[in-house]
Parts: sequence; structure tokens; C-alpha cells
Amino acid sequence: MSRMRIAECGLRNQGITGLHDNRFIVAAAALFLLSQVLVAEEPSKEYHSETLQGRVIFLAETFEKQTGIRSVPEARERILALQTTDGTLVPILEDSRGRAFRRDERLRDMTVELDVRRYRTSPVVQIIRVLEVAKDGRYEIDYWCDICAIATVERKDCECCQGPVELRRRKVN
Ligand SMILES: [Zn+2]
Repeated sequence: MSRMRIAECGLRNQGITGLHDNRFIVAAAALFLLSQVLVAEEPSKEYHSETLQGRVIFLAETFEKQTGIRSVPEARERILALQTTDGTLVPILEDSRGRAFRRDERLRDMTVELDVRRYRTSPVVQIIRVLEVAKDGRYEIDYWCDICAIATVERKDCECCQGPVELRRRKVN
């Protein structure tokens, strides 16, 4: 009898130990999943990088050409977009690299290759790098002050000497 009880007790203990192990595994799995969620929430993981090719346009005008739908006049030059070679319109976040296309119409005449970041929460892309795709190759595009030897991403007075900056094209590869 007592031996049986001991055996039972042993079994029960084993059972409890087993349960503890399961709980530990569940807790570990939950922690792992939580860590994955936390990783996903880090700002640096909220986008993926892409390379797109096309021409930068004002969205309203091109959208009207494509669909016949007219934007209100005050919205005509509000949103810049890349019109890709297949006609898709990709809105551009207007930070200083994006604004470069508003400030300099020469950039809107180029076929460009843009390295962009596409964020999880928005259809707009952020421009990281601008290349012109010309007949004789690809050129990195930025602006240059000869006097100060300073590069900028958009056309504006030089931050150093307040003089004009030149559009600079540098051949790549
Ligand atoms: Zn300067």
C-alpha cells in the first residue's frame, strides 16, 4: 500500500515536473514570439529597399492623363510621384531629396533610377539615391559648389558661401 502510494506519488511528481517543463516551453515560446514582435516594431525594420526606374512627375497631372479624373487646382503640384516604365505611379515622400525634383525641372526630364525605402505603413517611398539613366550609361545626380567643394542633394544656395550650386552628373560603373 505504502509502496503503491510512493509509486503514485512518484508518478504525480513526475507529472507535475512534466507540466512544469511544458509551462517553461510555453513561456519560452511566448517570450520568443514577443521578441519577434519587438524586432518588427523597431523603426529600422519598418521598410524594405527597392530600386525603381521611370520619370518623376506631378501625380495629379499624370493621373488625370491616365484616368480622366481631375484634381482640384490647388492640388495640381502637391504630390510628386515616380511614373515607372509600366505606368505605375509611386508617390514620393518630399524630404530634401524628394524636393530636388520640385526645385529643378531638369530632374523631371530625366529617366531616373531611384533607390528607395518603402515603409510598411504607407504607399509613399523615400528617395535614398538618384541616378540618371542616359543613353551612354548611368550618372549619379547631386549638386556641387565649386568654391567650397560641398555637395548637396537639391538645388539651393550653397550653405557655406551662399553662392549658386551646379547640377553634377558623375558616371557610375
Ligand atoms: Zn559654396
